[in-house]
Amino acid sequence: MSRIYAIILAGGVGRRMRSAVPKQYLPLCGAPVIAWSLMAFQKSPEIDGIVLVTAEADTDWVKRTITDPMHISKLMAFAPAGKERYDSVQNGLSAIKDEDGIVLIHDGARPAVTEEIIARCCADAEEYGACAAAMPVKDTIKVADENGFVRSTPDRRSLWMMQTPQAFRLPLIREAYRKLEESGDKSGVTDDAMLVENFTDVKVRLTKGSYSNIKITTPEDLPQAEILVDRKMLS
Ligand code: C5P
Repeated sequence: MSRIYAIILAGGVGRRMRSAVPKQYLPLCGAPVIAWSLMAFQKSPEIDGIVLVTAEADTDWVKRTITDPMHISKLMAFAPAGKERYDSVQNGLSAIKDEDGIVLIHDGARPAVTEEIIARCCADAEEYGACAAAMPVKDTIKVADENGFVRSTPDRRSLWMMQTPQAFRLPLIREAYRKLEESGDKSGVTDDAMLVENFTDVKVRLTKGSYSNIKITTPEDLPQAEILVDRKMLS
């Protein structure tokens, strides 16, 4: 079995949250948002080590108030956040010294992730080399033009909402990031799976996520996240 690492991203500033405190540190069910993801990865038997990506200025505070009191014994390293999400992922990858193995990349702003989702991602990454938690879309999705009019309607049966964790063999995701650097064009990079799609021959497996595995993005997401994390704790 490969060694399996997790990179948990908590380096965003959360502009869309309109809050002075970045969303990953807001209180949720009695703990900071990021605590719930840390706990899920800490409890997952598949996971060998965790890298937590935070703004450098926050690291001491996170250690003192979150990871030390929670006894996150799998925490191997803090990595400094970068300007964009992909910069943060790259810094997280640099903190993993192993050449081989598997890495799960997870948005710390998805506190309702479960051990079951993590286990499915680990299994699919072992089997396929690359996978991402995802769910079929429920709504009809339209493609719009730049003036706000509908251009077309893609077939809903082929549309999936992408979530995290997204999991990869380490050499594969490192190769994808190297090629992104070489391409010189980082515009429009919104997840890690798309780098594997665009820069390698490996097909990304869609792994069953959950409709509860939401990302906290705007203030409206917080009450829903409270309910979902509460439910996760009870199950
Ligand atoms: O901004 P968005 O919701 O896409 O962020 C997804 C995750 O990536 C969040 O957990 C956020 O903290 C993290 N992030 C990061 N470094 C950045 C931007 C976002 O670690 N520069």
